[in-house]
Amino acid sequence: MLYLSDPITRLSGVGEKTALLFQKQNIVTINDLLHHFPRDYRRIPEILPICDLQEKSLVVVRGKIVSSPSIFSRNKRTFLSFDVKDATGTVGVTFFGMPYLKKTMVPGKELLLYGVVRKLGVKFVFDQPKVLKADEYEEMKNCLWPVYPLTEGLGNEKVRKAVRACYDCFSEIKDYLSEKNRKNLGLLNVSDALYKMHFPKEMEEVYDARKRLAFDEFVFFLLKLEKLKEGNEKKESQFVVDFAAEEICEAKKSFLKGLSFALTAAQTKVLEEIERDLSSGYQMNRLVQGDVGCGKTVLAFLSALYLIKSGFQVALMAPTEVLASQHYEDIIKMESSRGLGIHAALLTGSVKTTEKKKIYSEIESGEVNLIIGTHALIQEKVNYHNLALVITDEQHRFGVKQRSALMEKGEMVHVLVMSATPIPRTLALVLYGDLDVSVVDELPAKRMPIKNSVLGPDYREKMYQFIAKRIAEGRQAYVICPMVEEGDLDGVENVTDYTDKLKEIYRDYAKIACLHGKMKPAEKEKIMQDFKEHRTDILVSTTVVEVGVNVPNATVMMIENAERFGLAQLHQLRGRVGRGEHQSYAVFMLGNDGKKAKERLEILNRSNDGFEIASEDLKQRGPGDFFGLRQSGLPGFKIADIFTDAKILLMAKEYVENELQFRTFEEFYSLFEKENASLVDFHAICL
Ligand code: ADP
Ligand code: MG
Repeated sequence: MLYLSDPITRLSGVGEKTALLFQKQNIVTINDLLHHFPRDYRRIPEILPICDLQEKSLVVVRGKIVSSPSIFSRNKRTFLSFDVKDATGTVGVTFFGMPYLKKTMVPGKELLLYGVVRKLGVKFVFDQPKVLKADEYEEMKNCLWPVYPLTEGLGNEKVRKAVRACYDCFSEIKDYLSEKNRKNLGLLNVSDALYKMHFPKEMEEVYDARKRLAFDEFVFFLLKLEKLKEGNEKKESQFVVDFAAEEICEAKKSFLKGLSFALTAAQTKVLEEIERDLSSGYQMNRLVQGDVGCGKTVLAFLSALYLIKSGFQVALMAPTEVLASQHYEDIIKMESSRGLGIHAALLTGSVKTTEKKKIYSEIESGEVNLIIGTHALIQEKVNYHNLALVITDEQHRFGVKQRSALMEKGEMVHVLVMSATPIPRTLALVLYGDLDVSVVDELPAKRMPIKNSVLGPDYREKMYQFIAKRIAEGRQAYVICPMVEEGDLDGVENVTDYTDKLKEIYRDYAKIACLHGKMKPAEKEKIMQDFKEHRTDILVSTTVVEVGVNVPNATVMMIENAERFGLAQLHQLRGRVGRGEHQSYAVFMLGNDGKKAKERLEILNRSNDGFEIASEDLKQRGPGDFFGLRQSGLPGFKIADIFTDAKILLMAKEYVENELQFRTFEEFYSLFEKENASLVDFHAICL
């Protein structure tokens, strides 16, 4: 009898050597092996008459050996070759490194050969085909054949046989879902699900199996979230904003009056939700979601103002220095024109040590009441006087850990998280289970939709003329290149050369600046500032402007080598224009070999909806890479996919909620401590 926790060496056919190879893939126990899923499935073809063979096709042929194998050497390798014939023709067969086959491959013997054929002169040949036994072939015909991820030293057959061996030894795995539950939910039992992942008869079975495993993965995730929430229920907060107080009312009025626009209905609704939190006497834990350009920043600033006016400190964390200093400049400007009483400090990694020390002490004394910065904010040295609100901008760029580290800087601080990660509200509610969610689901009305086009390199000259015209009208433009310096990638535009080229082209017609991530922060800041204040016309940049940068007078976004970017990223980049009253344009310029990408990028023409684009992006790139999921604060799943499996997630949510009324799932507590616990660990415990 075998147990899931047994080492794989207990399987027949798995020796120490093989076990070591498996271990390199983190496969140690039988449970691990059962969770090592195929990356693809193949159906074995029907037997093909030799006369119908085609170049480079994967085929099965049945025939008799007609010639004695001849043996020869080439490049120190021994080759063995002979001919096989059926009623319709002859095919050559070559094996290498297997001279012993000479004994068994005798004329007259019937063979079933499986492999890829290639044309050699007038004849087709098999190189190193698989020789199938008749019953083996029958078995393969009845099911799909698993193709496992490539593993050094381990052939597909070896892996398949090892998995198969698991099933020869035990009959049943217990399941944490009762049969009644499974019926209601329409799920397979876990034992069948695992089996069908490896040995499905039809793809339908793989889908069913995936569904069950995705469900388990979500259940595990949700239990973890529950644990996280525990001791995290609404806590009383000493930082209460009194919205009846005259000072607060005046500050709000003055702030709103100073804006050149009225808030949209969506902004107003979310603002009310924030105000309710801040006056409730309980800690705020709110995520504000909204597509790029919907106007989240004013909400963040106003929230900060409320607490500052109530006598507390606020920290605002942004993912890049460019964005942090933009927020800082905006606040300084607002303060100097309106005198709201905000004393802001900018704290980023590049602030000089002496300056930093000064800022630290001003933070500690409470002299500074708004601290804006990058993750330098969460460094140990910063001691706050009375931190009451932590805002993180562009949350999808931060991990959950960073968020909570900043929270721990204060006693029961309010937390406001801003994100443009386009996931639907229902999913956000579940995924950010420890947060309340507000959605700004409307863009400011006066905007004209951005005009988009995906263009080939032939149009580049025309684009330069187009940009020149916009500049003559008083607008500005961004040009984005994928690389900083000349790299080894042919035909990929780099920022520094490109800037020189444009300077040459535009000469006196436009002032051009160059921005990239490798510059010193102070330099970056100055360049950004110059662009904002229209001392430059064209900003040639890498994707450092991607997040949050706001220059409403810039109306052209031209992206070189657009094929090198993901859709979600292109959408973010495009979000830098269309922020003001003028018509804006986004041009996705394909590189010389970018033609194939045209179709992929078409969706950017059709849709301006970040959610739709993100779903498409995910489809194109596969879930693993979504926004660099791993560091995004969104959980990464092995099987499940938050977009396509949204229904299963909601099902799992309901199940967990129901179940938690009856039991505590204590058996999993040890897993919640573990950094990278996954579905495998979950199953190791619950099966
Ligand atoms: P995001 O939600 O992407 O962070 P921002 O807060 O940067 O968007 O806002 C984008 C632009 O829209 C800014 O120029 C901002 O001043 C402007 N804006 C914000 N709210 C409104 C509004 N209600 N009407 C018009 N423009 C607005
Ligand atoms: Mg923003």
